[in-house]
Amino acid sequence: MKFIADGMLGKLTRWLRMLGYDVKYSNNLDDAQLIMIAKKERRILLTRDLELYQQAIAKGINAFYLEGKTEAENLASLAQRFKIKLNIEMATSRCPKCNTRVKQVAKERVSDKVEESTFSYYNEFWECPKCEQVYWQGAHWARIQKTLEKAKENLEKIQKEK
Ligand SMILES: [Zn+2]
Repeated sequence: MKFIADGMLGKLTRWLRMLGYDVKYSNNLDDAQLIMIAKKERRILLTRDLELYQQAIAKGINAFYLEGKTEAENLASLAQRFKIKLNIEMATSRCPKCNTRVKQVAKERVSDKVEESTFSYYNEFWECPKCEQVYWQGAHWARIQKTLEKAKENLEKIQKEK
């Protein structure tokens, strides 16, 4: 299951990549290009634009219209529709910046790439082989988990309403 997201969904794109999904994103693709790529690469088109959604559906493209007010709501509706998982497993996680699978790296390897305090406090690090961005489950990790918990709650709510 691969996705392509419209220019308004940069934040959601980063979430989906962290969750391990392949999401193509660029904010300078026009509607026709988005539809063409979705068709050619068999990607599900994610959009906040109702007109684009309707155009895509009319052309037989698998598309999904997102209307959530928060990332947690959008993730919940994607979990409802496509059964995406709402847990981050680092082994399958992708770089939120460039969509490449991240790789766990030896701590020593990142010694000159992260701050000293981060280096001394954390033991597990991941690196993007393409853009070389380093990741660790730092203070921001609690916020990430909180959003995912919220998404799971939203999903339960949607399922109860059905
Ligand atoms: Zn990257």
